Amino acid sequence: METKLDKAAQCFATWKTTSFAERAKIIAKAGELLHARVNDLAHTMTLEMGKRIAEARGEVEFSGNIMAYYAKNAETFLADVELNPEMGEGHLESSPIGVIFCVEPWNFPFYQLARVAGPQLMAGNVLVVKHAGIVPQCALAFEQILTDAGAPEGLYTNLMISHKQSDRVVADPRIKGVALTGSVAAGRSIAAAAGQALKPSSMELGGADAFIVLEDADMELALKWAVWGRMYNNGQTCCAAKRFIIVEEVADQFVASFKAALAALQAGDPLDAQTTLGPLSTEQALIDLLEKVDMATKHGAKLALGGKRLDRAGSYMQPTILTDVTPDNPAFREEFFGPVAMIFRVKDEAAAIALANDSDFGLGGSVFTRDPERGKRVASAVDTGMMFINNINWLDADLPFGGIKNSGYGRELGAMGIQQFVNKKLVRFIKANPPA
Ligand code: NAP
Repeated sequence: METKLDKAAQCFATWKTTSFAERAKIIAKAGELLHARVNDLAHTMTLEMGKRIAEARGEVEFSGNIMAYYAKNAETFLADVELNPEMGEGHLESSPIGVIFCVEPWNFPFYQLARVAGPQLMAGNVLVVKHAGIVPQCALAFEQILTDAGAPEGLYTNLMISHKQSDRVVADPRIKGVALTGSVAAGRSIAAAAGQALKPSSMELGGADAFIVLEDADMELALKWAVWGRMYNNGQTCCAAKRFIIVEEVADQFVASFKAALAALQAGDPLDAQTTLGPLSTEQALIDLLEKVDMATKHGAKLALGGKRLDRAGSYMQPTILTDVTPDNPAFREEFFGPVAMIFRVKDEAAAIALANDSDFGLGGSVFTRDPERGKRVASAVDTGMMFINNINWLDADLPFGGIKNSGYGRELGAMGIQQFVNKKLVRFIKANPPA
């Protein structure tokens, strides 16, 4: 760890002065290699954490696109900004701040790495990365891609370290910023360590996103997104639809068709393209999820579907629907990280917004309505970092990703993501005496 931190710090001394064009050559090449190695990388991902193979391929391709996006746009995003002071001239310039420590989760083993590597390396920063313990081969494969793309030694380095060692890294004077994507508990721990060391940090944490269906929704479209929104990545996505808030008038229809669609999913080997229901990432993840469902029903929730592990080898959970989750049920404020949907019935739009906002999380959310103005009104009224109208499509490098409340702070991706760890330096030029 010591040697790697030293190498990273040495690398920053030269990398910070490289031109955007020089950086772009390496980052764009890394993007090309992600596309070129898609089959191998997707296979490794599926073996390590169980993602269905088509989704794994999609993730690798998207990761390649993110690298290409920053290789192309970083210079524009970080161009000097002219200011208009009362006297003289002024501008803001953006400069990298140093070695950034990233802690990343297993649920998107490549996308999460591209989300930090693309912008931060193009900004002139250098990365040391602690990936999740269950995806070591993905971690090594991504590091290898940067090496093969021509990255100098120390530009992007895996640290295979423990939580305790992570705290030491955060405190290490060679580290100048900290980015974490993970659970609220990890966020509290790493953000506290970063705060103690007065280092800037970004926290991309969990979510309990509302999926609001209004009475004028296109129900067929809403159903398709409901299934995708809850089941994509076997339900293990931070911004998955987790709380389904349905206006009473259409609730029976929605629940019946949602239940039928989830019940029809076919469990199988995630490497088999025919499989529509994959396993959870680990046996422990399944045990934790089953315990949460039990806890919910002990406090009065009802099971409209599933609730048990599947009777087959592997860590498979039945697609599950919980209803009657009242505010005094601890499940009401929980994140269910897997194929478990909570359904709430509300009388109208105002009640849907109030319920969506009654959450400790504030990552994303969606609303389904045929009226675009109504959709925008609801989107504005829900307190989250991201809202989607008639979709939950966050898969675009140009769209800033992140949340508020317990979902964290800071943004990754888009023009905002590259600003997270740069010094916005004011430079003023004026030919005048000091004020009297
Ligand atoms: P997790 O347990 O917090 O793990 C995420 C990463 O943090 C792993 O690398 C883990 O290392 C590390 N970690 C955990 N506690 C730590 C500590 N005290 N000190 C240092 N490192 C620590 O999260 P998870 O349960 O695997 O991932 C799912 C969570 O991530 C969900 O809550 C999900 O919503 C959230 N997530 C958020 C986003 C977003 O962009 N907002 C995206 C994806 C996931 P080990 O693997 O070694 O334990």
